[in-house]
Amino acid sequence: MSYQHVLCAVDLSDDNLAVAVRAAELARHDNARLSLIHVVEYVPIDLANELVLPHQQEIEEQLLKRAKKLLGELAGEMGLDVVSEIIVSGQTRSEIIQFARDHEVDLIVMGKHRKHGIFSILGSTANGVLHHAPCDILIVHIGE
Ligand code: AMP
Repeated sequence: MSYQHVLCAVDLSDDNLAVAVRAAELARHDNARLSLIHVVEYVPIDLANELVLPHQQEIEEQLLKRAKKLLGELAGEMGLDVVSEIIVSGQTRSEIIQFARDHEVDLIVMGKHRKHGIFSILGSTANGVLHHAPCDILIVHIGE
């Protein structure tokens, strides 16, 4: 069985190049589509009143714009021309899972830092996706 649609979730830190390169290798090997997704998780401060002020919208727009630029650069560094770049805002775990469901993704590639002590038992993004994903997941270990 070969994969048809590989989704690589990136947090846009420097570490994610290794994760993206791994996803690209797998996609190339299987001749699969490759999508890169980044979720902008911006929580407006005034949640209690459900009031989103204009400057808060501006901040979110800036974050989305910055993410689009960085994701484009990452795709460039990987030397990939044909790749879908997806930027969405919301809760990271839910958005990754939703995109995978809606777009017939059959492999999600993510990174995971080696965490110690209390951090190793707290739910990470990778853990959250792992428990609800509709498809296979590859967790790429990132160094310390
Ligand atoms: P973390 O649990 O924050 O250490 O993140 C683990 C992995 O989840 C990262 O290496 C990425 O693959 C993915 N990830 C984290 N944050 C985001 C984000 N905002 N958008 C997309 N993927 C993310």
